[in-house]
Amino acid sequence: MPRPITATIDLAALTHNLGVARAHAPHAKVFAVIKANAYGHGLLRVAAALRGADGFAVLEFDAAIRLRDAGYAQRIVLLEGFFDAREAVEGAAQKLSSVVHTEEQFAWIDPLASGSRLDVLLKINSGMNRLGFMPEAVRGAYETVQENPGVGKITLMSHFADADGAGGVAAQMTVFERAVAGIAAPRSLANSAATLRYPETHFDWIRPGIMLYGSSPFTDRSAAELGLKPVMTLASAIIAVCDLKPGDTVGYGGTFRAERMMRIGIVACGYADGYPRHAPSGTPLRVGDRMTTTVGRVSMDMLCADITDMPEAGIGTRVVLWGEGNPVDVVAQTAGTVSYELMCALAARVPVIEQSSMSNH
Ligand SMILES: *Cc1c(COP(=O)(O)O)cnc(C)c1O
Repeated sequence: MPRPITATIDLAALTHNLGVARAHAPHAKVFAVIKANAYGHGLLRVAAALRGADGFAVLEFDAAIRLRDAGYAQRIVLLEGFFDAREAVEGAAQKLSSVVHTEEQFAWIDPLASGSRLDVLLKINSGMNRLGFMPEAVRGAYETVQENPGVGKITLMSHFADADGAGGVAAQMTVFERAVAGIAAPRSLANSAATLRYPETHFDWIRPGIMLYGSSPFTDRSAAELGLKPVMTLASAIIAVCDLKPGDTVGYGGTFRAERMMRIGIVACGYADGYPRHAPSGTPLRVGDRMTTTVGRVSMDMLCADITDMPEAGIGTRVVLWGEGNPVDVVAQTAGTVSYELMCALAARVPVIEQSSMSNH
């Protein structure tokens, strides 16, 4: 028996979740966001499950090339644009689409070098204040791009800072609309949260990411309530059992002290597998068919489950760290982070199993 940890990726759930995005924005096309190795799920396996998307969005140039090499002919967008002139030339030749967010990037678009026109997403800073042209510079930037013989289609693009939170999208929508007034070009603004909550942001291309992986972008609405199905299930098993007397501690630092007789299941999963070390005692775990919690510090290769009231649990009992029956959003929230970070951090040493049945319950 190998070490029992696995990450199961439910391909049917991915396809289902893409359908949920489409149902919310029936008139928009979809860039499925598969940056960061498809949020830790595996670039090419996710692309295959989402091949019905109108386009893909990544940040890494090599990921875009891998998608083209695998035969995907739809639009592939580079969300941070090109990082140098060589990428711009090769990217245009590969018919990639690129965000352009600085004047420096204009100069790299060279039709003679690439022999091809490049589709551009002109990024507008509507209030996130990371990338993009300031509203007053948008008209000039648009004209510059439009006059470049190396540029093909132009899409106007911006990104929301708080579509998932109390801030909403209204202020950024107003800034964006003013900045692009009178420019007749397709628009792309909506991430998952805006796709789900703000129809007025849908325009021509939505850019859902996290919802495709079956996680809710909101703290006040669960993935299940949104009709999303979990894609990644990180599971392992109990490999040892330890009995504690009152006063005994568990794990490094002795941060957890038993106040009664306890049974502790040692689970083969630690931070070197991608489980967050900062998850406190009390983080939810599914052991067999029941919920319990972690106790003590997460170590590199192990963590501890409270199985005091679970006489049925013992060596070999399956433990779901997150996913099926133990929502990643709740685990993330308990650990003071977001599902994005947990899924992206899945370690390379964890074997991945693809599952394509719809029976993910
Ligand atoms: C990552 C990203 C998205 C997807 O955001 P989610 O919150 O995962 O839906 C959309 N647009 C841009 C520019 C991004 O960087």
